[in-house]
Amino acid sequence: MSYVTYLESALDGTHLPADRVQTLHNDRPLWVRYDLAAVGRAMTKEAVSRRPPTMWRYRELLPPADDHSIVSLGEGMTPLLPCARLGEQFGLRQVWVKDESQLPTGSFKSRGLAMAISMARQFGITRVAIPTAGNAGGAMAAYAARAGMEAFVFMPHDTPAINQYECHLAGAKTFLVDGLITDCGRLVREGKEALGWFDLSTLKEPYRIEGKKTMGLELAEQFEWRLPEVILYPTGGGTGLIGMCKAFDELAQLGWLADERRPRMVAVQSDGCAPIVRAFESGQRFAEPFAGAATVASGIRVPAAVGDFMILDAVRASGGCAVAVEEPRIREWMRLAARLEGIAVCPEAAACVGALERLSASGWIKPDERVVIFNTGAAQKYPEAMQVELPRIAKGERVDWRQLASG
Ligand SMILES: *Cc1c(COP(=O)(O)O)cnc(C)c1O
Repeated sequence: MSYVTYLESALDGTHLPADRVQTLHNDRPLWVRYDLAAVGRAMTKEAVSRRPPTMWRYRELLPPADDHSIVSLGEGMTPLLPCARLGEQFGLRQVWVKDESQLPTGSFKSRGLAMAISMARQFGITRVAIPTAGNAGGAMAAYAARAGMEAFVFMPHDTPAINQYECHLAGAKTFLVDGLITDCGRLVREGKEALGWFDLSTLKEPYRIEGKKTMGLELAEQFEWRLPEVILYPTGGGTGLIGMCKAFDELAQLGWLADERRPRMVAVQSDGCAPIVRAFESGQRFAEPFAGAATVASGIRVPAAVGDFMILDAVRASGGCAVAVEEPRIREWMRLAARLEGIAVCPEAAACVGALERLSASGWIKPDERVVIFNTGAAQKYPEAMQVELPRIAKGERVDWRQLASG
């Protein structure tokens, strides 16, 4: 059974029934609301701690009406890895990476799409479509295959090759579009009438946030309900950041958090695509579309987000900020994190390493504050960003071992 009570417009608070398919309300997203008093009676921290370590352990705070509609590939809790060497590099004593690359399909998009596809199945939907910067398409294709649904994916023509292949491999009808994710979004909107598919665009249905919310629930549990001071999050459409803040609000209402303090949320973007940072800096609640968006961190190449005001509200309410890092240095930060800690961070998370450098140098992050970086995907999905010319040993070549070791 589900504890969902109704859906609520994020912009004007209108209530809508949750027992049928809902999308946007006046072109803006919906929140899923729960009877938290009843959740609090049904679920205890102790009970949760004994359940299997997957995102479904917070069952009462999740929307599926019955377990049979859940579509899963085994979304395990992801490790919270202490990173002493990376922290030391920037004069910080308490830095962690929450490593979402270990989820099915190699990115945290699995959390959102597992939930969205589960809810689509609950409502009897059999054909789905998505515009994607890459990983969301891969995750949707996989979960749609798992649910036996027909899937259509539209991605920019220069999306990382692995994302193209993984969608095709999972049987999704996959198309490369001349343009950006916003152009892909237009195609999904236009094709809907002719083909009757359900549009799984970021925030255009209410349940992806609920999947991403489990990052915040998990993080709180891993920190023993005492939240860290700072969270650095690579921000594209913003579902993860919004979802985590929703998780913290719900946990506070349940009385599960050890104290009142909330993490300062940092929305990290590349200066090659920084609409949220621009809006933050100019004091706006809505962001202008970013012209000429270009970044190797394809997951955050989102020039316009429908949930812009939700991201900006959440960042401001938390006392956080929005930071754009230098695009040409992203590969350098990828290498730094992998070299110091052995964690293969994606370019998006590498941008967060850049933000860590900036915010520790400026004193915005203090040496003893507890800081978490989200590694939202696996570096291995981005061969284009990792290419390197390695030294070669010819057949029969006499190796100079000293030189080899020092090279
Ligand atoms: C989608 C994506 C992001 C951005 O996530 P949002 O929650 O949509 O802001 C960041 N990193 C990676 C690897 C992604 O695939």
